[in-house]
Amino acid sequence: MYALIVDPSKTYRTLLSSVLEGYGFGVMSAPDSALALTLVAKNRYDLICVSIEGSSNELFSLIRGSGLNKNTPIVMLTSNYSREVIEKSIAAGVTHVFQKKAFSVFSNYLGQFCKELLFADVVTGKILYVEDSLSVAAATVQLLTSTGHQVEHCTFAEDAIDKFLASEYDLVLTDLLLAGEAGGLDIVRSIRSCADGNKKNVPVLAVSAFEDSARRIELFRSGINDYVQKPIIHEELLARINNLIRTQRLLKQLNLQHERLKEVAMTDQLTTLYNRHYLMEELPKKISQANRYDQSLSLLMLDIDYFKLVNDKYGHQMGDEILIVVANTLKQCCRNEDLVVRYGGEEFIVLLDRCNLNDARERSEFIRKAIESLKPYDINVTVSLGVSTYKNGSDSYEGLFSRADKAVYEAKNLGRNIVVVES
Ligand code: GH3
Ligand code: MG
Ligand code: MG
Ligand code: MG
Repeated sequence: MYALIVDPSKTYRTLLSSVLEGYGFGVMSAPDSALALTLVAKNRYDLICVSIEGSSNELFSLIRGSGLNKNTPIVMLTSNYSREVIEKSIAAGVTHVFQKKAFSVFSNYLGQFCKELLFADVVTGKILYVEDSLSVAAATVQLLTSTGHQVEHCTFAEDAIDKFLASEYDLVLTDLLLAGEAGGLDIVRSIRSCADGNKKNVPVLAVSAFEDSARRIELFRSGINDYVQKPIIHEELLARINNLIRTQRLLKQLNLQHERLKEVAMTDQLTTLYNRHYLMEELPKKISQANRYDQSLSLLMLDIDYFKLVNDKYGHQMGDEILIVVANTLKQCCRNEDLVVRYGGEEFIVLLDRCNLNDARERSEFIRKAIESLKPYDINVTVSLGVSTYKNGSDSYEGLFSRADKAVYEAKNLGRNIVVVES
């Protein structure tokens, strides 16, 4: 990293040099605009700090006009920190204006600047790059790979779309005008119409030689995330890519966290079965599926017999252990597509897809026997089961529940450890 200091005061130049060197810059300095211009014409700097009062605007315009330092950030330190000075300096090409005496503000800026410049927080990714000019492509691929990105280059939109669908990318960088039938916009449209949510949201950075606002608006409407103008300024391209990939990663992380939170909210902690919130979310879907495809749907309600006595006799902790054993047995007795839920305390519900009343009764009997034969920790554990089945078209989930509940009640009355089917 190289910096240039332009300041008439030797003391201030020395002070600023030592600060910049502290951040790892190699420093050159000049007391006036004339020497500064000579240096700027010969060397490329990463940062130029100017603190000459008065007529520095001409210097700024000359640096900005052309040459090696056209895109180098120029920082101005001034003791005349007025709105007028700030506006004029920025109009002349200065990037930031700092108050000379507020040195800590400037120092903070330097710290952040170095971090960005050294790509300390750079994120690298896999980029699909579409460009039909081979010379432009070669230079860009070189730039991107040297920054740590993995790049796959294609010349035609059709190839790019095939590649995009076949693999995973963090970003698509595409030229808009491409040789062949399709162009960059066709790529964007294909991406945005993907059914796969992850693919659909991959950020797209478009490159074009046209500076036309109507076109740019259309580009954004069609779903690009960002845009760079040709000829590409390397630093700008890298910074935009960095931002896009970072934002996308954060979004993915957020979605993942959201999924995880949802899972936690829908799971019973003790048994790891789904809880009643999940059941209430799923039940309407299962019912509408049963209605639409005219499939059967049955509900088993289980209640552990005399569970209070188990707690009283062996302690609450043993009660918990038994709940876990019962939950695991239930899961083992069910198919993957069945929904097994801890509905509350020592009550469980199993929702059986494509299972009629008769099959549900058999399954209940199977479960009842499986639990009866468990005898966990040598304790007799039994359950009473109530079974109901959905009557397509004319039923409600309240009906389904209350009939199963009634059946359980009847099972308890009949002496427990028994299956009762809705009447
Ligand atoms: P019944 O055969 O009529 O169902 O008798 P019961 O004792 O099982 O019925 P009741 O509903 O009166 O009692 C249920 C008991 O389940 C009461 C409560 O202490 C216990 N229980 C509920 N949740 C938990 C839990 O998470 N852990 C433990 N250890 N016990 C629980
Ligand atoms: Mg082109
Ligand atoms: Mg109960
Ligand atoms: Mg009970």
